[in-house]
Amino acid sequence: MNSGVGALRCEVFHTKLLLPHEIMDTIGVNLQAVKQRIAHAARLCGRDPADVALIAVSKTFDADAIAAAHAHGQYAFGESYVQEAVEKIAALPDLALEWHFIGAIQSNKTRPIAEFFHWVHSVDRLKIAERLSAARLAGLAPLQVCIEVNIGNEHTKSGVAAGEALALARAVSRLPRLKLRGLMTVPTPSADYAQQRRYFSQLRQIKDDIVSAGVALDTLSMGMSGDFEAAIAEGATLVRVGTAIFGARTRD
Ligand SMILES: *Cc1c(COP(=O)(O)O)cnc(C)c1O
Repeated sequence: MNSGVGALRCEVFHTKLLLPHEIMDTIGVNLQAVKQRIAHAARLCGRDPADVALIAVSKTFDADAIAAAHAHGQYAFGESYVQEAVEKIAALPDLALEWHFIGAIQSNKTRPIAEFFHWVHSVDRLKIAERLSAARLAGLAPLQVCIEVNIGNEHTKSGVAAGEALALARAVSRLPRLKLRGLMTVPTPSADYAQQRRYFSQLRQIKDDIVSAGVALDTLSMGMSGDFEAAIAEGATLVRVGTAIFGARTRD
């Protein structure tokens, strides 16, 4: 792509000498490739690559895979299942990692989510937000949250309808132990770049409308392995990438 690629390859091989585990090599190479793609997509639309943060989605992969990604400079990780995530967080006490909960939230799981995570991307109703706020310990920083919006996805009921996003954002922004940061979406998968951009531009528009209505938001959490370039073109500030870093999942 450009001369930077050669320099990065050298770095990967150098790391390989220090840490000669197959899994680390693969994850390290994949991470570098994803970061290159993020930087390229950002520059193509005149954005600073530093304004797009990468969340490595480690669901179904074990603590060793997370430690390997961390050894290659990754510190933000996304998880979808509370029990599985809490076990991995407990297994990695010495690493300064940032944990993002991105899965469906059952109301009886709000306490461990509020206790162990830094961010929650999948708030889609007030009752869940209230429980997260109530469970967030006073000694911790406020829980950073995004509201999940259902854009064009008839197959799932997760996410608030677009027309209800402003009212939910207003209510969530008033909760004491939460810090409302922005919006998240998981659109219907599409291989078509133009269609991907249409979905993501809708989320960006909803965010702009909410900001115009006086609720501060600075985050758009959108884009996965198959569509993060389109998401970046539409203003994503957080991309959630699993498969392109850790490989295909055997379960979901
Ligand atoms: C699994 C998951 C991802 C990552 O998906 P990939 O296609 O593996 O990159 C991102 N966001 C959410 C909400 C997920 O559940």
